Amino acid sequence: MPTIQAYAAQDASAPLGAFTIERREPGPEDVQIRILWCGVCHSDLHTARNEWKNTLYPSVPGHEIVGRVSAVGSAVTKFKVGDLAGVGCMVDSCGHCPSCAEGEEQYCDSGFTGTYNGPVFGGENTFGGYSQSIVVRQSFVLRIGHPESQLAGVAPLLCAGITTWSPLRQWEAGPGRKVGIVGLGGLGHMGVKLAHALGAHVVLFTTSPDKIADGHRLGADEVVVSKDPEQMRRQAGRLDFILNTVAAPHDLNAFLALLKRDGTMTLVGAPAERHPSPDVFALIFKRRRLGGSLIGGIRETQQMLDFCAQHGIVSDTETIRMDQINTAYERMLRSDVRYRFVVDMATLG
Ligand SMILES: [Zn+2]
Ligand SMILES: [Zn+2]
Repeated sequence: MPTIQAYAAQDASAPLGAFTIERREPGPEDVQIRILWCGVCHSDLHTARNEWKNTLYPSVPGHEIVGRVSAVGSAVTKFKVGDLAGVGCMVDSCGHCPSCAEGEEQYCDSGFTGTYNGPVFGGENTFGGYSQSIVVRQSFVLRIGHPESQLAGVAPLLCAGITTWSPLRQWEAGPGRKVGIVGLGGLGHMGVKLAHALGAHVVLFTTSPDKIADGHRLGADEVVVSKDPEQMRRQAGRLDFILNTVAAPHDLNAFLALLKRDGTMTLVGAPAERHPSPDVFALIFKRRRLGGSLIGGIRETQQMLDFCAQHGIVSDTETIRMDQINTAYERMLRSDVRYRFVVDMATLG
């Protein structure tokens, strides 16, 4: 098997460092991609540090991958050598359960195979995008329609983009709908851009007054500083849908109170600790719903990428070298990035 350069964590407390891994030769259905850019997702950090208690070591994170096809198997029809291609959070699933049959592979009954950290319950470890190349079955590889000059900003669409797009579509963000986005980080800034492009009236909620101008620049019609009770009161009962991207435990009731009758708040931030329990009366009295959503299916991810290419939408990024990843993790923990780090993979090896 070909040996390639990667960056890995060897245990929960070790910083990431250079590491050599093997990738399989492309089989008939496989696409081999030389990785150009890889976004840095909060899940990468959670996994590298075993914060979800399921990490297989060595751990090579990275699931916001864009690159160029360098080889294809004999049965591959979707891609040819030289094409731009993307890989997100999944590289496989069972393919026949009801969720897979409906193109919702992220909810596969057997659990999808993650791009890194493998099948959660047993099975081989998979290695992600902090590496020179990856080999993935063509049905899990995405087409990229953006111009080459935008590729760094395309990488985060593969996780942050689809994680916000899928619930926005599911709960019909669009013209005539008032949509709240909670949190302005990697996920939230994509939520604002996408909800705005879909035609919704977007209300951004942030704890940082210094992000107000940025919120408007990204497409928010209103920006609310959520620590100000008076500003929050003015939004009470006004929103059709709230996409809550904040992973840190916080008072969900403060946001449930902003929903109209029959409104839904959906959580997409993956917490390391639990939120305080929601108030059942806040739900009962206006028939409100509290939901969750996990990334999105492959078909839906392609739709999101095509929509973003059409509308010129990319993530706001700061590019780093591979050997800056440990510093980037520390800065990410302080929310000191606007709004996504992306690794220039030419700096590896
Ligand atoms: Zn992610
Ligand atoms: Zn399945």
